[in-house]
Amino acid sequence: MRYEELSQLQVDALDREKTVLVIPLGSVEQHGHHMPLGTDTMLAYALCLAAAAQMEGQVVVLPPPWYGFSAHHMRFPGSITLSHTTLMAMVEDIVASLAQHGFGRVLLINGHGGNGGVVDVLAAVLGKRHYGRMRIAGLTYFALAAPAIARLRRSREGGMGHACEFETSMIMHLRPDLVAADRAQITYPDPGSAYLSTDLLKGSAVKTYLDFKDLSPHGTLGDPSLANPEMGAEFFAAVVAELVRFMEDFARWPITAENRT
Ligand SMILES: [Zn+2]
Repeated sequence: MRYEELSQLQVDALDREKTVLVIPLGSVEQHGHHMPLGTDTMLAYALCLAAAAQMEGQVVVLPPPWYGFSAHHMRFPGSITLSHTTLMAMVEDIVASLAQHGFGRVLLINGHGGNGGVVDVLAAVLGKRHYGRMRIAGLTYFALAAPAIARLRRSREGGMGHACEFETSMIMHLRPDLVAADRAQITYPDPGSAYLSTDLLKGSAVKTYLDFKDLSPHGTLGDPSLANPEMGAEFFAAVVAELVRFMEDFARWPITAENRT
């Protein structure tokens, strides 16, 4: 179910306590020489819609706000960034509106690494603000599905980062017309310390600002030459399965503050 396609009467008929409202988050930023700027939002939205389709009548997907926090991509043409405060304020206002309509479950499903810290803060701040009336959770889908993605990957560490084996495969699966595979370039970036990793599935315990132009001259982190649409379909299905598993669990989390201290 797409939120923007519902009428007010259809919204009014939704179960306020049970329905999971999903806000997909992504970015509009460079994705190497071979992929579209909207990759992250396109993927997050498509994954949310596919997961919602497997949970008929229980999940409504809101239209994604296209832009994210992409400060680290601004030295490349085309990238657009919100300040982190704008991104936070926008999501806070959307959630406040849903709270006003009495909804009890909101899930932020993020598809862009640069939004990760903001999503963490939003889950905490909004969870506290709406405590007892609304349950809010935030996740980055490739972190949630990391073990499943790891089983399918062919690249070594560093081969999945940005416009990489993973993202390129999934856009080849969804929108092959938007991928210029002959322009794809490979980078195994060196972030300069063993404490830092650019791999999508690894993450670093230590956080620091990494400007993508310093990591890669063309903006790709990883190995898109390993991408193909068949792998894209497999990655996509694996992530959808993990999202459905999580959403089924989230739909049962208690909302009210009763019996809690
Ligand atoms: Zn991306």
